Amino acid sequence: MRNFTPSEVLVEAGSEQGPIYKNLKRAFPQVPFTFVEDAREAALALSVANDRFGAGKEKLFLARHRGEFLKKCPGSEGQVCCNYFVINFASNCPMDCSYCYLQEYLADNPALKVFSNVGDLLSEADDLLTRHRNCFFRIGTGEITDSLALDPYIGFCAEVVPFFADQPNVLLELKTKSDCVEGLLRLDPKERVVVSWSMNPQRVIDQDERYTASFEERLAAARRCQAAGYKLGFHFDPIVEYAGWEEDYRDMVERIFAAVDYRRIAWVSMGVLRNTPGLKRIMRTRFPSTRVLSGEQVLCPDGKMRYFQPLRVSMYRKMLSWIRSASPTVFVYLCMESKEVWEQVFGFAPSCEKELGNSLTAVRGEQKFGSGSGCASGARQA
Ligand code: SF4
Repeated sequence: MRNFTPSEVLVEAGSEQGPIYKNLKRAFPQVPFTFVEDAREAALALSVANDRFGAGKEKLFLARHRGEFLKKCPGSEGQVCCNYFVINFASNCPMDCSYCYLQEYLADNPALKVFSNVGDLLSEADDLLTRHRNCFFRIGTGEITDSLALDPYIGFCAEVVPFFADQPNVLLELKTKSDCVEGLLRLDPKERVVVSWSMNPQRVIDQDERYTASFEERLAAARRCQAAGYKLGFHFDPIVEYAGWEEDYRDMVERIFAAVDYRRIAWVSMGVLRNTPGLKRIMRTRFPSTRVLSGEQVLCPDGKMRYFQPLRVSMYRKMLSWIRSASPTVFVYLCMESKEVWEQVFGFAPSCEKELGNSLTAVRGEQKFGSGSGCASGARQA
């Protein structure tokens, strides 16, 4: 994985008080730090040269987050949703995958930002979790950034993991394509933290996941986290179809399940490559030779393009059979897929988003299923 070094760190006035600033100063002694009054204005002034999104990854902004940190995952219209909360502690990512949806989602605001007011984040989470002690939450930090890629420089996990580890009603998911787990190994997750990896065969990583950790580096990091007491998750997403994909993905699944204790895997998800017409246009400019643009896709009702449904079902069934051969009991779900596809792959579909959310939070083991009435949306009743 590439070591990240920004060309400059821009610090919004007031952000130099917190722990993230101190960690950045320690991590980047050679990098110029510039103070700005308002990071939003400075971010808008980013180069508009031919690759604005790529340019956004070169400087790092440290700024206050205005507004709420915790949000319900938006999911995708008409698709079965897994009922999830997200915490946006940063925006954009130092890695650069060809298919990354942030290229479109953050097109007007591509600056790589880390939010300095971690105390506000923790108060907000504390308020939600305390007010709904009878509900169980699944919260992730990898929605508009990678959960761990910046951790060696900002030390975010050391600030938040101890808090979440002490909560009786939450699972925190840290989702990554990096191997930056050093900061986690010193902490005690107390069964409340899942570290999960988006996994692809090395062939896909080489071609479409620029600056990320290799397959072997991710797997080694997963083993270290498991040994340190963390639950693991694996996301086979996006699954890319190409000549020979079956051999590569089967080999990948077998190697993962041979390397870790599957009884301590919290969940596995599967999702095929998806994009939008707008994202495809951006990809053609930023990654003109990528193979992921060449497969045939159809526009689905949620506005996303996916492989034809029969092909998706066939791919998921094959993946599921390889997963089940290696681990008959691990919890597997589909990400952003329709009920029809669920039924054809698993023989059933969750009746509503809460049912899937409940199944996922039930990985704690000691809880019964329940529909969570009275709980905030995104939580299940404990
Ligand atoms: S690791 Fe995730 S967030 Fe980062 S560029 Fe790749 S897809 Fe985007």
